[in-house]
Amino acid sequence: MTAATPIIQPGQIEPPAGAIPYIYITPRDNVFRDRAARLRQLATGHVMQDFLLFMAELTDAQHAALATFPKVPLPTEAELSLCREHGMPPLSVQSWPRNPVWQETLKQIIAHVMPAATPAAGKILMRLQKMDSAALEAFATDILAGQFDDMDLGVAPFIAAALQVYWTHMATTLGAHAFGANDISNLCPVCASPPVSSIVRIGGAENALRYLACSVCNSQWHMVRVKCSNCESTKGISYFMIEGTSGAVKAESCEECGTYLKIMYMDKDPQVDPIADDLATLALDLMLDESGKLRSGPNLLLISTSAIAA
Ligand SMILES: [Zn+2]
Ligand SMILES: [Zn+2]
Repeated sequence: MTAATPIIQPGQIEPPAGAIPYIYITPRDNVFRDRAARLRQLATGHVMQDFLLFMAELTDAQHAALATFPKVPLPTEAELSLCREHGMPPLSVQSWPRNPVWQETLKQIIAHVMPAATPAAGKILMRLQKMDSAALEAFATDILAGQFDDMDLGVAPFIAAALQVYWTHMATTLGAHAFGANDISNLCPVCASPPVSSIVRIGGAENALRYLACSVCNSQWHMVRVKCSNCESTKGISYFMIEGTSGAVKAESCEECGTYLKIMYMDKDPQVDPIADDLATLALDLMLDESGKLRSGPNLLLISTSAIAA
């Protein structure tokens, strides 16, 4: 490839690190709207149709909540600059003083999805409505810390959905330029959460580059391909897909640390979504689970305690 070639082809050497947009943040108006549309598309004829359609309702609720999200305190430019300098995520889910306004978002979400809830889901929502503010904060802390043991897994997706809206609001308000690289490359440089999956993007400066997709704030950050997103090994990486599919979603598994994470390819399907396509390919999780591999990052809309690496 000569310097005059403007486009990097898949499989060819990637541009030098300085030329790569390190963080990609999906436009605020698109993130949940596109995901809801994708969930509806994937639901058609799917064995988990009802579940995916309900997840689409939940994602609609997130979209509506994000559109009307109130002004909240954000890190100052001085704090952001210090974080960029030291490779620290400024909105770390562990240390950022969480604004209780996310509980209002949760109420909005509950009201939005209630009419679409099955009797079983309705019971879960009623259980959620009975939780007081302190219990909700404690629950949020456990979700964000990845402490899923003994968790009420029924109510968890709704609490996670509200937290995703709050963190997505902050990330999209500040914009990609506010954030630098994280010293810990397998955690989100915005909020320090693990990725839900990774995505090989098409178009623009991100073309053919692989990004890890945050499980909380919806930011995406660059990581070279054919490298374990958990332990960064480049040896013993293999790919699995469900037979008869387009291969737009695969599981990238690592022999070194015994984990896997799904990887999605926009060149095979430009509409792939890190969360929606993950939910629609549980068969792939079952396949990897049977081979003894553990997932290295959670999908907070469907937490499964058994299959997540500690
Ligand atoms: Zn994040
Ligand atoms: Zn690994």
